[in-house]
Amino acid sequence: MSLSNVVVVGASVAGLRAVETLRREGFGGNITLVSAEPHAPYDRPPLSKQILTGEIRPEQLLYRDISWFAEQRVELLLGTPASGLDINRSQVRIGEQWMQYDGLVIATGARAQQLEMGRSLAEIYTLRTIDDALAIKEKILPGIRVVIIGAGFIGSEVASSAAASGAQVTILESGKHAMSRAVGARLGHALGQLHGEFGVNLVCNARVAGFGGDDRVESVRLEDGWELPADIVVIGIGVLPNTEWLADSGLKLGDGLLCDETLNAGPDAVYAAGDVMAWPNEWWGGVMRGEQWLVAAEQGMHAAKNLLTGRAQARPFSTIPYFWTDQYGCRIQVAGRTDLGELVPLVGEETERPFLCAFRHDDRITGIFAINAPRAFAMLRSTLQQHRHFDTAIESVSKHLAAAE
Ligand SMILES: Cc1cc2nc3c(=O)[nH]c(=O)nc-3n(C[C@H](O)[C@H](O)[C@H](O)COP(=O)(O)OP(=O)(O)OC[C@H]3O[C@@H](n4cnc5c(N)ncnc54)[C@H](O)[C@@H]3O)c2cc1C
Repeated sequence: MSLSNVVVVGASVAGLRAVETLRREGFGGNITLVSAEPHAPYDRPPLSKQILTGEIRPEQLLYRDISWFAEQRVELLLGTPASGLDINRSQVRIGEQWMQYDGLVIATGARAQQLEMGRSLAEIYTLRTIDDALAIKEKILPGIRVVIIGAGFIGSEVASSAAASGAQVTILESGKHAMSRAVGARLGHALGQLHGEFGVNLVCNARVAGFGGDDRVESVRLEDGWELPADIVVIGIGVLPNTEWLADSGLKLGDGLLCDETLNAGPDAVYAAGDVMAWPNEWWGGVMRGEQWLVAAEQGMHAAKNLLTGRAQARPFSTIPYFWTDQYGCRIQVAGRTDLGELVPLVGEETERPFLCAFRHDDRITGIFAINAPRAFAMLRSTLQQHRHFDTAIESVSKHLAAAE
């Protein structure tokens, strides 16, 4: 099928990579990039890091100068969320208008999960957009009391940035350890200690019962009756995929938009990419929804290629999930599965820096984790691709491991 009119909904890393790929692969037809946000596409990971600490300015986050869109003949619609999809008529609803497409990429990402309680109080924030980040940055001044709910990677990064700005920071985590959803209990425990080293108070097994204050938050109450004074609260308890606009579309929805292994969402010319969607990832061995920048970027490119190739030739997308997080000057990197098998330290111990470990399952290497060991991590990451035998994989990078010590 030849395409002349592609609509990409969602203008963040997945959507933009799809657009770039369409042009790079020679697609000469119309491209419309539809964005709910009023800003041109920008990079999200620095929001909780260098934007909060003031190391970079918001305009440095832009992936592309606004003139690039005109040069590439991409119609960029800002501040115009899609509100419906009719797959029978191949139309996307934007405001009151229906827009025709013959190829569609859905890349509407995810949003921060909120807490129902405390909704009417000022100074309670979540962090997903540049506007969220700038609002939080304005508040985290020396001495102010910041309470963060959730010690996942967003909560931990906000804690690190707020502490660097001189704020008094407490993290309330309902689980037993920081970051344990992403890296498991043992590494989560070690990362929890990092907070303590930098003066951040991490309280685990803490269940929030409510907030004190009339117009603005003044405290956070826990189920055990403890009440913690707070000038601002940042909630980092996970994300929800933005699929509501697809509710009546007939596409399959679960934890995200459910796609096949080629990232196809059902109709021949409808693909999806990024945090909004779930797909059977062969390398992973099951259906997953990524919440990682690199996975979203790769999927955007892959979805665009498959859209151009046509359904019959569409290739499966299989990837090794990878993410990084920066906390207290440490670069923490994770690839593959840390939820399977035995943790084998390779460089240092988990309370030391640098630290590198790998996960062994059925004598295969399944995952790796590093703190401040980027070169050795990169070498070892390449061995995950082939599900290499554990000892062979480690042997193949042994000289880099020695250099990392
Ligand atoms: C503060 C922060 C720090 C992060 N740090 C890291 C990190 O260190 N490492 C890492 O690997 N990952 C990190 N991530 C995660 C990474 O940024 C995401 O995985 C990535 O942004 C997902 O890209 P996406 O294009 O799928 O969706 P998103 O970035 O969520 O973008 C989706 C876009 O679609 C828009 N949209 C939603 N609904 C509609 C609609 N109906 N119509 C039109 N547009 C719509 C949204 O407004 C948004 O602009 C971080 C995320 C955040 C928020």
